[in-house]
Amino acid sequence: MADKAIVVGSGAGGSTAAMVLAEANWDVVILEKGPNYLGDLTSPTPATRFSNDELKSQHRGFENPDEEAEPRTFRRTDAEDATHVGHVNHLPSAVGGGTVHWDAKTPRFWDIDFKKLTMLGPVGGADVQDWPFAYEDIAPYYDEIERLIGVAGDVDALNPITLAHAPRGPYPMPPGPPQYSSTLLAAGAERVGMHPHPFMMAINSQTYDGRPACNNCGFCSGYGCPIHARVGALAPLRRAVMTGRVEVRAETFVRAVVHDGRRASGVRLVGPDRVEPVETADLVVLAGSAIETNRLALLSELPDPNELIGRFLFFHWFTTGFAIFLRERVHAYRGRSTSHAVDDMADPDFPGAREFAQLNDLPYFRGGVLEMGGSQEPIGEAKTYAGLLPLLTPLKPFGQHFKALMRASVLRDRLAGVQMIGEDLAQSTNRVDLDPTVVDIRGVPVARITYSPHEHEITAQMFYLPIITDILKASGADAAAAVPQTSSDQFPIAAEDVPSGAHTMGGMRLGTDPAISVCDPTGRVWGLDNVFVADGSVFPTSGAHNPTLTIMATALRNARSWVSSQPQPQPSPSATPTAPPTPPPAGPLPTTGAGAALGAAVAVGAAALARQGLKRDTP
Ligand SMILES: Cc1cc2nc3c(=O)[nH]c(=O)nc-3n(C[C@H](O)[C@H](O)[C@H](O)COP(=O)(O)OP(=O)(O)OC[C@H]3O[C@@H](n4cnc5c(N)ncnc54)[C@H](O)[C@@H]3O)c2cc1C
Ligand code: SF4
Repeated sequence: MADKAIVVGSGAGGSTAAMVLAEANWDVVILEKGPNYLGDLTSPTPATRFSNDELKSQHRGFENPDEEAEPRTFRRTDAEDATHVGHVNHLPSAVGGGTVHWDAKTPRFWDIDFKKLTMLGPVGGADVQDWPFAYEDIAPYYDEIERLIGVAGDVDALNPITLAHAPRGPYPMPPGPPQYSSTLLAAGAERVGMHPHPFMMAINSQTYDGRPACNNCGFCSGYGCPIHARVGALAPLRRAVMTGRVEVRAETFVRAVVHDGRRASGVRLVGPDRVEPVETADLVVLAGSAIETNRLALLSELPDPNELIGRFLFFHWFTTGFAIFLRERVHAYRGRSTSHAVDDMADPDFPGAREFAQLNDLPYFRGGVLEMGGSQEPIGEAKTYAGLLPLLTPLKPFGQHFKALMRASVLRDRLAGVQMIGEDLAQSTNRVDLDPTVVDIRGVPVARITYSPHEHEITAQMFYLPIITDILKASGADAAAAVPQTSSDQFPIAAEDVPSGAHTMGGMRLGTDPAISVCDPTGRVWGLDNVFVADGSVFPTSGAHNPTLTIMATALRNARSWVSSQPQPQPSPSATPTAPPTPPPAGPLPTTGAGAALGAAVAVGAAALARQGLKRDTP
């Protein structure tokens, strides 16, 4: 018998770890609490039950956890009780994890993200740390993941500052066709002196590794891709399953890691009738995504002498902007969402940023990548009007005038949105713990999130809000505004009150010093010999870019070190590998959950514009 590993979670990090373990002759059982909507996982294009259906995906939560069955709770500070029970920055729960819904933007983190303390220095009130490796150490793993999942991009179009901080070779594929709305916004960014570029994304611009080119169906971010032109976790999952040594067990919730002394012996599951069988294993990998991995580590009472598990949780601090084009339809809902981006605001030396930081008693700040070109879908649009009309007019949100508004489609067909992914600094008060009163449908305590932005995030937002508005106006918009996505003490009026940007990291951070980290430099939990973490919870900094490529590259790097440090298993006689997949070509190689937030942002912004007398009549 080969040694057996359990991987908790079949998403970006878990599937990558499972691939490495299975290819090193481990028998692997992947335990996934969500359902499996896919057919034969050895196929590059398994049958799916995903579809272009807004009602199913966005409003009936087909791929998402049910917020009543699996809620989380939220509060801003330790001093208050939870103010919200329901979704808090949830990710899909299904085989494939969050990458079922992602729009597959795959920027790399910069050198300053990995060596932040050394290169940029400390910030008061935050706990800035270095990663235990540098950009040049992770770069080959970035290359490998980009080839595996198939990334389309144009290295020649990148901002020189990006290439200085994250040098790289060509992408595996050229970019796909641009979206009209994104090109308008990109032109606006250029007019104000920025460097827009086609957004690198793991969406096929041509047939790649047995998967078809994207057909630009338009229901992309927030929907499972019906044709697998966009994969993510499914690429390593396929490689793992093709070894013949992997079982993917869906609808199986892991309640705790069973451990004694320095070793785990398996995991406890919640079965039917709340019976809790134990599945044994020689090695356990936690990859339930940041919030759920923290929850599981706390439920398991993993060794934590310094009470660090759950602390230094990151969400990116999003700023949302919208541009309305009354004279033309920009149909931003068509195609892959947001085909362009601007990186300039991730630079701590953006013109004027250091001076503004010093005025606010900060050594520096960073905004983050600006995704350009999102929109709403029809039901989201209708809901925005329903919320907005009573604020602005005596008209009721239904009837003939409402239909006319839907046809004119000011807030969908004529709307182009942007989102700035703002870097979030590490604060020990931002954390996951177990809610003292709320339990999920299985009777298990849910994650309670305590989170407020640092002055760094707020200062960056204050600095970049007018600049984002300038970009939108320079793109030719008739009306434009930018608002914080989530409210804060400093900006009480925002698109939403609870974070929902879908970028979740931290709580189980990597480090060389066990006094200030939960995992060693390879993702092994300090104090345990055979429990490892393979998702975004291990991040010591949040970066100023979308995190998932870095989650996968880090999982790949770390899992390779686990298999080389553990005794080498012999292949199980029962393993019947499928023929290996065609290797990808060799050689160098709604916006993020934007729909609802964009609608709310438009409502907040339009109300503000109306107050300033800037609102234009519907054409
Ligand atoms: C609409 C949307 C758009 C996005 N776009 C982008 C993008 O363009 N670029 C980008 O970088 N990121 C994007 N993201 C974020 C991305 O999806 C996540 O960063 C990524 O999936 C996180 O990977 P992970 O390995 O940490 O966990 P996940 O991929 O979330 O996988 C975790 C899995 O573990 C399962 N699980 C959790 N707990 C348990 C348990 N106790 N027992 C069993 N199973 C469990 C979950 O059901 C889930 O399937 C987007 C997210 C959304 C929702
Ligand atoms: S736009 Fe392309 S990648 Fe996105 S869901 Fe449609 S076919 Fe898939």
